[in-house]
Formats: sequence, structure tokens, C-alpha cells
Amino acid sequence: EWVLLLLLHHIAADGWSMGPLFRDLSTAYTARAEGHASPLGQLPAQYADFAVWQQQWFGAEEDPDSALARQVAYWRTALDGAPEELNLPLDRMRPAAPSNRGAWEEFALDAELHGALLQFARDANATPFMVVHAAVVALLSQLTGSSDIPIGTPVAGRPDESLDELVGFFVNQLPLRVKWDGDPTFRELVQLTRTTALAAYDHQDLPFERLVEIVNPHRSASHHPLFQVVLNFDGTERPPLTLPHLTAHIDEDLTDAGTAKVDLSFHLRERQAEDGTPAGIDGALEYAVDLFDPETVRRIGVRLSCLLRAAVGAPERRITDLDLLDAPELESVVRLWNDTGQEVDSRPLPALFEEQVRRTPQAIAVRGAVDTTYAQLNERANRLARHLRALGGGREDVVAVALPRSVDALAALLGVMKAGAVYLPVDPGLPAARITQLVQDTDAVAVLTLSGSAPLLEKALAARGHDGSPDGAEAVPSIVVIDDPRTEETIAARPGSDLTDDERGGRLTSSQLAYVIFTSGSTGTPKGVMVEHSGLAALAAAQIDRFQVDAASRVLQFASLSFDASVSEIAMALLSGASLVLRPDGMLPGPGLTELIARHEVTHATLPPAVLGVLDPAEHGTLRTLIAAGEALSEKTAGIWSDRRLINAYGPTETTVCATMSRPLTGTGQPGIGRPIWNTRVYVLDGGLRPVGVGMVGELYVSGAGLARGYVGRAAVTASRFVADPFSAEGARMYRTGDQVRWRADGQLEFVGRIDDQVKIRG
Ligand code: AMP
Ligand code: MG
Repeated sequence: EWVLLLLLHHIAADGWSMGPLFRDLSTAYTARAEGHASPLGQLPAQYADFAVWQQQWFGAEEDPDSALARQVAYWRTALDGAPEELNLPLDRMRPAAPSNRGAWEEFALDAELHGALLQFARDANATPFMVVHAAVVALLSQLTGSSDIPIGTPVAGRPDESLDELVGFFVNQLPLRVKWDGDPTFRELVQLTRTTALAAYDHQDLPFERLVEIVNPHRSASHHPLFQVVLNFDGTERPPLTLPHLTAHIDEDLTDAGTAKVDLSFHLRERQAEDGTPAGIDGALEYAVDLFDPETVRRIGVRLSCLLRAAVGAPERRITDLDLLDAPELESVVRLWNDTGQEVDSRPLPALFEEQVRRTPQAIAVRGAVDTTYAQLNERANRLARHLRALGGGREDVVAVALPRSVDALAALLGVMKAGAVYLPVDPGLPAARITQLVQDTDAVAVLTLSGSAPLLEKALAARGHDGSPDGAEAVPSIVVIDDPRTEETIAARPGSDLTDDERGGRLTSSQLAYVIFTSGSTGTPKGVMVEHSGLAALAAAQIDRFQVDAASRVLQFASLSFDASVSEIAMALLSGASLVLRPDGMLPGPGLTELIARHEVTHATLPPAVLGVLDPAEHGTLRTLIAAGEALSEKTAGIWSDRRLINAYGPTETTVCATMSRPLTGTGQPGIGRPIWNTRVYVLDGGLRPVGVGMVGELYVSGAGLARGYVGRAAVTASRFVADPFSAEGARMYRTGDQVRWRADGQLEFVGRIDDQVKIRG
């Protein structure tokens, strides 16, 4: 065995040259092996002849009629305002200094698709290259969200037959820029690639290096100028090598230099059967390993074949309607990764809590200056529930709870729900007018408050008939001042046993409302989100399981009661027999909180990343499970807690606190937001509500058990955010989160950012 190594600089030979070079080698070797001189003669033209001819033909750039001036003028116009860099779905940040290392992923188009492509090309009076170009453009448009797509393509650059047998560098790169308005059909896009290519071929002689000098785009070492994607269709024939007495083959591994000149190159080579019929197209994607993972590139190949199939099958379809996902990927993103069904006890919170009380009546429910057992908390809640019933509050009536964080506030939450009413937490620090507004917006029948705030609130509520409600017909809500000695006495005198359905005025069902919590209103006026008991039960079950909360756990109650995170802290603790440790109102992260966590040996805490970033793990040895929630978690903050069970939990109020959770994070890499929790489904959709594939940015929609009923008194907004779930057979709804996310290849979600409500995104 022998290896012949031919090492050539690209400046001396291009791909086309391999044909004449290997033919010459074969001819000369054969002659020499038989003892003759090489029969190869002089060619009609040499490279120098070509160079001289080209120089003359181009003429002077200053001469407006010269070929050179015309080509320069053409390219200046064609590339005017072209995007500097395509926003490709990169796996990694573009390094300032690229390594230029490259690798390959292969894909294939079958004979049937190949045949259909050729047929469509004939019908459209286009070449197969133009059809493939249109498909690549449509694909890149969907991947980048742009409708101005420049890509590069090589042309042989041998304008005369007399140059065919020459070894030399003739090849040129043409930037093909396709730009359009609106949403063309595939057939229209092919007409566009056709005119683009024909015009470019007419001006193909200007060498690329010269073109770059003339167009003078912003130069950066980090990306290729004018285009970062190349389409190479048909390529060059495999060079022939016939050496007598030897079996010779060209070792592709040796010819693959492991480099990538641009970010991504599509290579397609047509195959013909013996009888000349189309036998399929071999595809390969060469990619920069600095930027892409193999899996991402493999998927791009699959997407191109899906898109081509859809496009040649229905060329009148708009290009944004062309499917990019093959059946297995669609199955993954819609079904497989949403296979979260789990039997959970979905009874209303009071029933679940009362059962826990029966299991562990003497366990400590709330730890603080004085400890409160499950039985004590339950009795207080029952007395309050009876008191509310006596005031007339009942099924789905809203009761505002304007109390500081305290055992009383917890008893109030439970008591309101036990009465069959709906809990509305209100920050007692809000101005009386704002509280009045909340009460009015929700038609609350009662407000629980303390004597300190009562007089102002009473005044504000009494005044509302004059300036607020249009007819003044609604009843003024009862104000229950729970620290008023007479009220305390009345409540204390009521029985502490669990309420019967009769006392409640009917059975409490899971589809009844549990609470109303107002969103922060960062996107306009605050909206009251109505959450049902079924959602709360599903959330608690999922959290207790995932956070491993049990009777030995101590759960920090950190969140403000007017945020729904507090509901989740309370539910996970009180439905699992754990203890709640209340953060006193106003206690910020610092020595006080650290001391509280240590004194009560808190094991579980749900904290915003901003707080996780300032706590010192060394001072919080008892914390075993941390839940990061509420905003994006950085790799750095996650890294601080790498020796604990840290889970990133994501969710809007409208999906009952939490929609997705990560696995315990490992401490390296950008933390994801994980997968949908039990009985929850998530969809990442484009502007036309079509699922996008792995790696593509889309808007997150959530469907399933946690979906809120809607916004109090805001039917139109509710209808615009809670829309029909097109992937559910049972006519379910899904919530449009306004968050941008993308799937990772392993089915985990990555948070990308909030969608500015003003900006409509696609793809
Ligand atoms: P809210 O309804 O007030 O709880 O706000 C929910 C919003 O907070 C979501 O729509 C996200 O924009 C953001 N958010 C919540 N949790 C996370 C998280 N783990 N990572 C990133 N953003 C989050
Ligand atoms: Mg929240």
C-alpha cells in the first residue's frame, strides 16, 4: 500500500482543477509505467494568458462603460444595506478570534423528493439550484426571523472552454442576496432566487476579494464578510484516478481539512441512477465548531429536507407556512416532552389541609416566637370561616385579607377558603385608596384588617359610592378588624371544628376559585388573576414531590403575601406536614434573615435570584433545597449554590405560580427552566401558532391543570391571553405568556427574555 500525498495551496488549484489534474496524473503515470514519455502536450491557453485576457476585458474602473465599472455598479446596488451578520441560532457566543475549525453533518433527500424537485424546477423555469437556494433562504428566514438573506455560492469562473483543462484558481464566490416584503409563496420566492441568480451570473467576474474592498462592509475578524452561509450545489465531480496495476482511491478523510471558512455551508450533490433518472441528493453541512453543536447542525439538515418536501409539494404555500419539523421532532415538542400526566389529589385546599391536620395534629405548622400546631391553626381558621359565613360571605365571594405576615394571616387564608370564599391578599402597607380600588375591582364582600389601618380604610370605602362605583348599588363590604377585642371575642366563641358542607352552604369543589392575586402590572394596569382550587392542588402535589418536602422539612415563607409565590410556600408546607417559618414583614436579606434561617433550621427556601446572589452559602448550612424563581437565573448565581439542590422554577401568576421546573442544577452552564410540571403542557410557538423546533426562539404558551380562570372583570383581556389550545383534543385553553424561550435538544426549556408587548415576533 502506498499513499500519495498531493498538497496544494488553494491559490494554485480549485475544485474544478482536480479533474484535469487527476486525468493528467493518470495519463502520465500510465505512460511512464509502460516506459514511455508522457504524451501530455501544451494546452491552448495558460493561466497567465487568462490573467492578461481578464485584465484587458475588465478595462479601467474609471471608464464607466468598462466591464469592471458595470460589475462594480451592479454589486454596489445589489448589496446596498445588506445585513452585516445573519442572526443564526448559534449554540455558543461567536469568539472574537475564530479557530476556523470545522466539522460535517450529513443529510439526504430521497429519490422521490429529488424527482419532485426537478419537476417543479422545470415547471417554474428555474434550475434545481435555484429551487434549493429558495429552500435554504426560506429556512434561514425562519431560523433568523429576517427577510433579507445573503448567502454565498461558488461559480466556476471559467468563462471559456479553452480554460476547462487548466489547473489553477478560477473559482469565484458570489453573494446572492434575496430580500422581500410580506410573506411570499414558495413559487414567488423561487422567481426571486431566479432573478437574483441570473443577475449575479451576469456580473460574476469581479473577484470576491475585490468586491469586499469595493462594498467595504464593516470588517470583523469574527465573521465572514457579506455572508456567513454558503450554498454549494452539485459541487465538483469526483476526480477520476486510473493507475495501471493499482487499485487507487482518493481518501476523503485526508481531503477534509477539518476547517470551516464560514459559519455554515450547505453542500448538495445530485445522484443519478444508471438510466439517468434522479436517485436522490446527498447533502452535507460543514459548520464552524466554534459556533455549533453537531445536533443543532443535524437538525438544520433535517429541517431543510422537511421544508423542501413541503415546498415542492405545495409551492403556493406562504414560506412561513412551510413545515420545518419532521414528524419525530413535532412529536417530541408537542407530545413527548409534554407527557406530564400524573394522578394527583385535586381536592380543594381546605380538604387537603384538614386531612393533613388529622394525620399530624400536634406537629408544628408555623414556627416563630410561639409555635402553632396544625390543630391550633386549623381551629383558628375554622372559627374565622364561621365568622365570615355569619357575615354573609360564601361561595366564590372575594374576601380581602389586608394583614401583615402572621399566623393570623395564614388562618385568614385558610378560613376564607374554608368558607367557600376567595382569598384576595392585599398588602396592608398600600394607601387606603388603592386598597379600596382592589376591593372595588373584585367586588370583595369583606376586608380583614388590623385596628391601625381600619379607620382610614373605612373612610375610603364609605367615600367610594361618591366617586367610584357607577350606581352605588353594591353593598359596602364588611370590615373585620381582627384585633378588635370584641371581634376577637366573637370569633373565639365560634366552634373550632371543621365546617360541614351545610355550614358552608354547599360542597366546595375543585373548580371553585381559591384566590385572586394581582399581577405586578408591569405591562399596564394590574390585573386580578383568578385561580381555581384544582390548580392549587396540582401545584402543591408537584412541588412537594420535586422539592422533596416532608414532615421534617422547614419551609421559609419569604414572599410577600400579595405575590403568589407565598401561596406556593404555604401550600407545599401545610399539605406535607412540614413547618412554615415566617419571615417578619420588612426583614430583608441580611444578618436578621440569616439568623432566622439558622435558628429555625430552615431546609427549603424559594428565593428570587437577586437574593440568592447575595446570601453566603457558608452561613446557610441548613438550607438543602433552594428554588430560584421570579426572574432569570444566571450561571454565576447558580454556581454559588452548586453544593445544594437548586431548582430553577418558572411561571406566571396566570398558570398558578409555576409552569416549569429544572432538574437540580449542576452548577455549570446557563441554567434552563426545565420541563413542564405534572399535568402541565407547554408549547413554543411562532407568530402563526405553529410549534418551533429545538433551538428556535418562540413564545411560550402554557396549558393544563394550573391555568387560571382569567382576569377579574376583564373579559376582553382574558380572551386575548387565554386562547384555544390547538393541540388538545378536549378543547382546553392555553395561556400566552409573553416570554420568549427555546427548546434544548434534551427537552429542557431555556428562558430567552420577555417579549416587548409592542414588538411582534416571528420565528
Ligand atoms: P408574575 O406573574 O408576576 O409571577 O411574573 C411572571 C414572569 O416572571 C414570567 O412571565 C417571566 O417573565 C418571569 N419569570 C418568572 N420565573 C422566571 C424564571 N425562573 N426565569 C426567568 N423568568 C422568570
Ligand atoms: Mg410569580
